[in-house]
Amino acid sequence: MLPFHIVCPDEGFTTKWCLTIIGNPKRRINTTYDVIDFYCVDPSCDCQKVTLSIVKNNTIKASVSYGWKPAAFYRNWGVDQEMADLLTHGFLDPYAPQSKDAEAIFHHVSYLLTQPEGPQFFKKRYALFKKTLNGGDPIPEKKKRKSSVIPFPSRHPSF
Ligand SMILES: [Zn+2]
Repeated sequence: MLPFHIVCPDEGFTTKWCLTIIGNPKRRINTTYDVIDFYCVDPSCDCQKVTLSIVKNNTIKASVSYGWKPAAFYRNWGVDQEMADLLTHGFLDPYAPQSKDAEAIFHHVSYLLTQPEGPQFFKKRYALFKKTLNGGDPIPEKKKRKSSVIPFPSRHPSF
């Protein structure tokens, strides 16, 4: 997995996503985080998901994995039903760094994912990321890997 802004620097550095949380009732968070979106770098893989690192002071405070496709899409990849359902709502990735504020951050992120702009944002970035990896072409139909194993969950490169 690589961050979007590394593969697509032109777009990536101009559309940086920040998450501002004001007055979270449980943990009293009042701060702004940087959100870094990671996508899979296999040019023939069409896994349609993103892993988000929510970062403050160069430290990952929460890691969220999310897929914008219906659960059936991930089921076809060989993901079990529970994981497929988790992906479609987004979840705190147990294999990636989290912090004591992760649950509270996730509460806000998961709300954003239920808004129409959320899925659209990542869908667009995923498409551009894959297109860039493929030298300007979207993933060719015949090149698409027919895999029964989705490379998931994945570890982050460390900061
Ligand atoms: Zn993939």
